[in-house]
Amino acid sequence: MTLRRNATMPIESAKALLRQAGLRCTAARVAVIQSLSESTTPMSSGEVSDDLAEYGFDKSTIYRSLTELDESGLAVRIELGESVRRYELLPVGQKESSTHPHFMCISCGKIICLTGFHVDLVADHGPDKLPVELTEVLLKGRCDTCC
Ligand SMILES: [Zn+2]
Ligand SMILES: [Zn+2]
Repeated sequence: MTLRRNATMPIESAKALLRQAGLRCTAARVAVIQSLSESTTPMSSGEVSDDLAEYGFDKSTIYRSLTELDESGLAVRIELGESVRRYELLPVGQKESSTHPHFMCISCGKIICLTGFHVDLVADHGPDKLPVELTEVLLKGRCDTCC
């Protein structure tokens, strides 16, 4: 098992999450959980691979681990269009999709978690039921460096 120094999430906590989700504790899964836990924004598979480059996992292993974490409910996959998939850990005990909206800067492409905010969709006329199921909210605009 590879040890990650200075990781925010202790290796034992990452293992406990995996066990609770019924997944085997592999070095790659533990490292991916630690990598996600250190990030304040959702990460793409490539970013996780770069972050863990020193450990020599191959990209497909990282991608598979992210998919498994998503399927087991430990992480959530966020589709940000143009096939940009990013992943973030779900708070312990929370199932299904991400609760906070995400923001994408149209100038630099930066993704920001809008933690602590929510978006209400209000019908213009009367109590209309949405004809669709919302799985995530993505807002676009300019970040504070770009505006
Ligand atoms: Zn920007
Ligand atoms: Zn987020």
